[in-house]
Amino acid sequence: MLRDNHHRPVNYLRLAVTDRCNLRCFYCMPEEGIEYMPKAELMSYEEMLRIVRVMVGLGIQKLRITGGEPFIRRDMMDFLGEMSRLDGLQEIHITTNGVVTAPLVPALKKLGICSINLSLDTLNPQLFHEITRRDDFHKVMKTFEALLSHGISTKINAVMMEGKNDHDLLPLAMLTKEHPVGVRYIEEMPFNGGEAHYDKLWWSHRRILETLQNHFPDLEKIPDPPSSTSYNYRIPGHRGTVGIIAAYSRTFCGTCNRIRLTPQGLMKTCLYDDGVFNIKNLLRAGATDEQLGHAVLDALGNRAKDGFEAESRRRFGLPVSESMATIGG
Ligand code: SAM
Ligand code: SF4
Repeated sequence: MLRDNHHRPVNYLRLAVTDRCNLRCFYCMPEEGIEYMPKAELMSYEEMLRIVRVMVGLGIQKLRITGGEPFIRRDMMDFLGEMSRLDGLQEIHITTNGVVTAPLVPALKKLGICSINLSLDTLNPQLFHEITRRDDFHKVMKTFEALLSHGISTKINAVMMEGKNDHDLLPLAMLTKEHPVGVRYIEEMPFNGGEAHYDKLWWSHRRILETLQNHFPDLEKIPDPPSSTSYNYRIPGHRGTVGIIAAYSRTFCGTCNRIRLTPQGLMKTCLYDDGVFNIKNLLRAGATDEQLGHAVLDALGNRAKDGFEAESRRRFGLPVSESMATIGG
């Protein structure tokens, strides 16, 4: 079992396979997009496979593929096939915006992908266009339907934004009535390639919970999976669940079991740090698997105790302003 210097088990890697995206979500990047990494700076599939294999050897059991939008990277399905055959890796999960995902769902089912997180902040097509700056609502809904009909475990990720999707909180919760999905409300973080959109976060985890409780007075707390970032609830009579992720308030750091790799190979031991070392550069400089493993262990031996400490240790400056597409969420 891999542990950090605070004795937290670490068994979960989030791998952002690209910083490219086909949407321009308001809370993630500016309308004109972000300056993408030159292709040569991105990890190749071979490099990612090798790094993940080393990390699985150290104790990583669960992998999430994220981005940018993972499914716009060419040959992504072949890469997922390779990953699904990796000895020792127990679970593969994917986070996607769902725009080009629907036709791939049968193949994802065949590969045994454990679950998909689908990002969907509103059920209103016009508001979807306003938030994502693209007119792709119906394609995302097709993915949602395909995931349900193929029986792939699905969570909906909705970032709550003051003055944008306030009126979607309850309709999104109602998706859980008919469908066995987890709807998770996420506090907006300032990772948008610019400045924070708020002085004080309006949709805090507390306000989200109060709003749900006011509307569903019988809302039941249910047990949270180990190392879960969400506080989970059930509305009696509903097939699915709702969850709240206090991503900005950072209430879950004490059980954090995850590390991250950005598309250019920066390892992050916390969402709020700005990268602790670049494993791709090490690999390209000729490091052996053993040396790569040692570098990972060293980083985990110096891990910040929580997101506030990680933020205060940032070397390349405050405030946090990079786009989430360069991190993977
Ligand atoms: N493109 C894919 C997608 O949107 O699902 C995967 C990458 S995206 C960066 C991963 C997750 O981060 C999404 O669920 C998205 O809603 C969330 N996210 C992006 N920017 C965020 C922000 N500023 N605050 C909170 N969550 C954010
Ligand atoms: Fe793209 Fe996902 Fe960021 Fe939206 S949240 S711009 S879909 S990376």
